[in-house]
Amino acid sequence: MKADVRHVTDGTYLVHGSNTNWVILKEKEGDAVTLIDTGYPGDREQVLASLAQVGSSPEAVAAVLITHAHNDHLGSAEYLRGTHGTPVYLHEAEVPHARRDFLQQVSVGAVLKNSWRPGVLPWIVHAIRSDGLAQLPVGTPQAFPRQGALDLPGRPVPVHTPGHTDGHCAYHLPGLGVVISGDALVSGHPTSRIQGPQLLPDMFHHERARTVASLDLLAELDGDLLLPGHGPVHQGPVREAAHRARELALKVR
Ligand SMILES: [Zn+2]
Ligand SMILES: [Zn+2]
Repeated sequence: MKADVRHVTDGTYLVHGSNTNWVILKEKEGDAVTLIDTGYPGDREQVLASLAQVGSSPEAVAAVLITHAHNDHLGSAEYLRGTHGTPVYLHEAEVPHARRDFLQQVSVGAVLKNSWRPGVLPWIVHAIRSDGLAQLPVGTPQAFPRQGALDLPGRPVPVHTPGHTDGHCAYHLPGLGVVISGDALVSGHPTSRIQGPQLLPDMFHHERARTVASLDLLAELDGDLLLPGHGPVHQGPVREAAHRARELALKVR
């Protein structure tokens, strides 16, 4: 198994899983990494392969950071926590979501109502095959241990960008000009015909209006490399990417 790992900039890797991305931040020395998101449950072998390909290992993951607790991002978090004792951190508003005290994810019924849209049927077939309907709650998810930059490889700064889910967070690497945007801002999706910065289709957002408002928070972040939860890396000012997604979102309505 070889994972699709792209080296984006100093110690920063974007990995394309089966339909979803994750990010690895590696220290200059040694094998310690921060893993941001973990793909679908069915992507586990690719997660493990990607760690090996950057010269790391599951034991060397200092922490798993999750942008939001949807099944295509949370997939292997509980596996890593249960097997290796890796701490799993999220925004405090997302912690109960990761425990599955509640679920803010599109239902199969809602997706099927949209199945006439291009790409939706193949997407849901893939999601089912990747165990996207399996609920794999995290046993003891934790809120970030501190404000501001986290004391982890890459020194990521969580940025609360609610709407897609209540506790959705982007992660900013100010020194490298990188924004890891999760599902608050993507650059493509199998159910979208548009390429480039955009929001996911409406049905995927818990609160669409808040998701649109959070684009203004992303627009304030200094950076020119956008690593989204879905789609390829986007090069160019993150501010402009957020503005483009906002324009498109307002036009679609
Ligand atoms: Zn999502
Ligand atoms: Zn997603």
